[in-house]
Amino acid sequence: MRASLRCLQQRLAQRPNSTSFIGLGRMGSEMAYNLFSKQLAVKQESRFVVCDALPAAAAAFRQSFTATFPGCDIEIAATPEEATLASELIVTMLPSSTHVDAVYNGNETGGIIPTLRGLPPALARTTVCIDSTTLDVDVSRAVSASVIATGASMVDAPVSGGVTGAKAGTLAFLVGGTPDAFQAVQPILSLMGQRIVHCGPAGAGLGAKICNNLILGVQQVVVAEAMILGQKMGLDPAVLSSVIGSSTGACWSISVNNPVPTALPAASPPCERDYEGGFATVLMEKDMGLASDIASKTGTALPLGDAARRLYEEMIKQQPELARKDFSSVYRFLLNAN
Ligand code: NAD
Repeated sequence: MRASLRCLQQRLAQRPNSTSFIGLGRMGSEMAYNLFSKQLAVKQESRFVVCDALPAAAAAFRQSFTATFPGCDIEIAATPEEATLASELIVTMLPSSTHVDAVYNGNETGGIIPTLRGLPPALARTTVCIDSTTLDVDVSRAVSASVIATGASMVDAPVSGGVTGAKAGTLAFLVGGTPDAFQAVQPILSLMGQRIVHCGPAGAGLGAKICNNLILGVQQVVVAEAMILGQKMGLDPAVLSSVIGSSTGACWSISVNNPVPTALPAASPPCERDYEGGFATVLMEKDMGLASDIASKTGTALPLGDAARRLYEEMIKQQPELARKDFSSVYRFLLNAN
């Protein structure tokens, strides 16, 4: 038997105990940390594989994980194909539609779907794909249908709760897929989150997520406006935030993601770190665009959503240094405009 064939057979034999995580960014690295550490606590022989377009991101994750779990070996897969050959469970957490399309359908490197097609049917059938990316519903449904056609199962499982929730393992997962697929992934998702909701068939999790972020995108803008207005009237930002936080204006953007430094003395939102970490403005602008696209297709008017989307677009154009910062930096943008 040729050495490479023997090696592939050994690798395929280890798939049932192995999990691959693709996309080790702000959210993915925290989610993978919780998933792997909790799987390890239950099953010592668990194997883990990580893959990222930036090899440094995968290497940094491996270094930080093995510093806490020295006996654990984390393999780095160079491509989604390698990650698919290695594991029966594949979780993806990527920026958006083009990245999901590339990882699943493959571009110059092998993707998940062509690799599943090349596997013996019995191995494809036991494969489970969970995509937690927030992306276009139609792209997600097409990817899901192609995965399912290989015999594997797939759910869309976008998240709510931000980097803080990812780190604490308290995310909400909004799941789209068949009832059987939901049942299969529920125990896995509960290792990374607290609330696991079956929203309906493929794409339904994303639909719920996009509606949620439409609200959030508008909310963060109006909180910035109110905080600027209040300070112009001489109000202390901590007092103002405390009043709004316990009144009818209470919301996540005021009580957790407050954009004004010192406004939440007991917390540490991104504004306390020059808006580093958190949810990048470009990702919020992308989510507002996803809502606009669905609104156009369904003939739905989004007067506030469209206004907020244009504001994020303008902010990225005028102050590109805010694009990768947390979207609460819209406060800084509006402050400069005042
Ligand atoms: P991020 O940009 O920090 O991370 C994405 C990672 O994917 C990066 O490490 C990138 O190198 C990697 N990647 C890109 N293309 C790849 C490819 N072809 N193959 C392998 N890896 C690839 O983004 P994030 O903040 O972690 O967000 C991920 C998703 O979660 C987005 O869809 C976002 O909208 C959603 N989300 C983010 C938050 C948040 O607070 N950050 C909250 C909820 C949902």
